[in-house]
Amino acid sequence: MLSYRHSFHAGNHADVVKHIVLTLILTALKQKEKGFFYLDTHSGVGRYSLLSAEAEKTGEYIEGIARLWDRTDLPEEVALYINALKKINKGKLRFYAGSPLLAVQQLRPQDRALLTELHPNDFPLLRQEFAKVPNVVTKRENGFQQLKAALPPKEKRGLVLIDPPYELKDDYELVVQAIVEGYKRFATGVYAIWYPVVLRQHTKRIVKGLEATGIRKILQIELAVRPDSDQRGMTASGMIVINPPWQLEGQMKKILPYLTDVLVPEGTGSWKVDWITPE
Ligand code: SAM
Repeated sequence: MLSYRHSFHAGNHADVVKHIVLTLILTALKQKEKGFFYLDTHSGVGRYSLLSAEAEKTGEYIEGIARLWDRTDLPEEVALYINALKKINKGKLRFYAGSPLLAVQQLRPQDRALLTELHPNDFPLLRQEFAKVPNVVTKRENGFQQLKAALPPKEKRGLVLIDPPYELKDDYELVVQAIVEGYKRFATGVYAIWYPVVLRQHTKRIVKGLEATGIRKILQIELAVRPDSDQRGMTASGMIVINPPWQLEGQMKKILPYLTDVLVPEGTGSWKVDWITPE
């Protein structure tokens, strides 16, 4: 059932946009001294070798992180993310940090993380990666259920990243249901949902589902490498952020033109930052 392995896709253009948004949200949360809670519902393994057979097979990172790695003109918002990756690479790009590693790198002593992953092969790698890190708990649990089980956090501040594989079409509905459960318990939390655009009508189910919840302050951020298509393959991806830090909209409007040029030199790319529902 769980056939998706993120090791085939780590560092692709979708990861780049997702992880820049993640880094910017966490940076904003750290502007307050008070601790926060980070919940990563679909964690993956945390660290990926770009020299692995899986990464080599698809080569997706070559059209993603590798296009940014040696740039000397990075906007500061992108540099934050690249600098986090430099910490786990000595010079050459060999490893890619998944969302839990990027987030855990940013935790302060007063912050806390819960990382869940269901895959029987990936979970032990995740557990091992963070076994000795204080304030980080890993669990082999269903990530969607954590929006009931782990919220509200005692810190009363936090970010929930929901990053399912969408290999099951149900995921498009499950993310919306999970948000409803989470928001009931923790309405002031920041929620970030990653989504692919494979068929636009599937992505629209998330947007329409969220609109129907009545929740306000929902920002959509997207980068497309090609126009929408009925053919196989992901043409775009994005992040839907509920209660985004106030800076995020402007930051993404500033850097997405740059990212589109660098990640899509073929010239077929486009981007958008729009409110699904404003305040
Ligand atoms: N968030 C990771 C990152 O950015 O580095 C990547 C996550 S990957 C897109 C999705 C992960 O969700 C896979 O590792 C998959 O095994 C896991 N998964 C699938 N269904 C799940 C569920 N119901 N609960 C928790 N994990 C799940």
